[in-house]
Amino acid sequence: MHIITILAFACLFWQAEEPGRWILVAQHDIAVTLASVLLLPAVTGGAALLAVRRAGRLLERHPEAPHWAQLFHHRAAAVLRLAALVWFAGVVFFTRWAEWLAWGRITPALQIVGDAVVLLPFFAAQISLWVAAFPLERGLHADALGEGPGPGAPAGMRLKLSRFLDFHVRHYLLVVAGPMSVVLFAANMTRGYDDQLQAWSGWVWMPDAVLATAAGLVFLAAPLMLRRIWRTTPLEAGALRQRLETVCERAGLRCRDILVWDSDGLMINAAVMGLLPRLRYVLLSDALLATMNAEQIEAVFGHEVGHVRHRHIQHFLVFAFVGWLLVAGIMELLSRLVGTEDAGGGVSVLAIQGVGVAATVLFWGIGFGHLSRRFERQADLFGAQCVTPATGACRVPCGVHLPGGTAQGGPARVCMTGAEVFASALDRVAILNGIPHEERSWRHSSIGSRIRFLMSLAGDPRRAADFLRGIQRIKTAMLAVALVGACLSGYYWLAFAPRGTG
Ligand SMILES: [Zn+2]
Ligand SMILES: [Zn+2]
Repeated sequence: MHIITILAFACLFWQAEEPGRWILVAQHDIAVTLASVLLLPAVTGGAALLAVRRAGRLLERHPEAPHWAQLFHHRAAAVLRLAALVWFAGVVFFTRWAEWLAWGRITPALQIVGDAVVLLPFFAAQISLWVAAFPLERGLHADALGEGPGPGAPAGMRLKLSRFLDFHVRHYLLVVAGPMSVVLFAANMTRGYDDQLQAWSGWVWMPDAVLATAAGLVFLAAPLMLRRIWRTTPLEAGALRQRLETVCERAGLRCRDILVWDSDGLMINAAVMGLLPRLRYVLLSDALLATMNAEQIEAVFGHEVGHVRHRHIQHFLVFAFVGWLLVAGIMELLSRLVGTEDAGGGVSVLAIQGVGVAATVLFWGIGFGHLSRRFERQADLFGAQCVTPATGACRVPCGVHLPGGTAQGGPARVCMTGAEVFASALDRVAILNGIPHEERSWRHSSIGSRIRFLMSLAGDPRRAADFLRGIQRIKTAMLAVALVGACLSGYYWLAFAPRGTG
């Protein structure tokens, strides 16, 4: 879902590079542009109503299997979100909508206001999806809580539309829009003043350097912004906080605070954000704290700590860098080998850009999902290790804690008791979030497969060690490719880069 919002912003970045290049609507044809803007939220909302009604009928016909309705509902929503994005991209590139709002021509600082208006139909379409889904989601949520643990369960049945929308808008739109708007503003400014920047510094790449620095700073400081966009409060002092801080100490993790994520009981989730310890937060949602026992909370918390300990964010950055090198390399090679039309060659710049986009989508679609699912499993393993008891306290027969009070397995050991606690926490996440066990996820894989995988590692330290070694190999390989690629492209740039402007 966040990726859809990110891509909507990406449309603006891309469109601004070559404004008006793909416009298909004539200047005087105001109606077409207006209609495509206004119909986007209307059609999305209408289609969502139909889909929700069908999911409701599925629920009525098969009350014994609510996961069918859930699965259908989630898939339909995903398809509609994607369709809305494609439509929005069409509006941005093919109509005069963005051109009407190119207020940067007045002064670059004003462009961000125009950009916000350009994005309105996309935001409205997403909101219409949530409005349509609200009755169904409220029902499913109440059902899930009915099966839940009882005491302390969040107030799903008293859920109001306004709170539901408040949560979704903050959680899925503003969280992306906040940091992205700052970067977009920086891009508008550097583009608007690029001649001045170049003249002042005497360096062609100055505007790019300023923009890259701004984007880097936004990335590092984003946690400070996000903790305010989400509604969060520090976890109060007490036994639980003590327990979680002990997990941090044991793992050598430093963070600024442990926060409670106020979601009106809508979300069972935990997360960690921030690259720098001083700007790092671990978040636990209100519903997670209300519905899990201390051991399960510790397991989920341990999963988040595992992401930090194994430096997953850093490796995603390496991955992004490798992808960027690869795509830039392919595009450069293509334009050198075949030659662009501008340089008297056979292919248009547009075709090369198309190849670049296709390569990017392929690399991220396959590579990122693969890497992310592995990292999730590694974090699962870490979470299970956090709740692996000392020898003697193990409750089930397991291959780590041998009879006679000895333990085997070294650093990769995760025992059956720890794995079971973690699996029960994952199970809770699935039930209370209304995620069917086998619903696949690009970034996380299905909860069922995660539980099965963890169980297969539990008590088999050798298999766990193999798995960890495999991930280490992937990380090392990525790092090596990044280093070699950086050296090669640095050399290439020095030897062949154009010295003029642009
Ligand atoms: Zn995770
Ligand atoms: Zn054990």
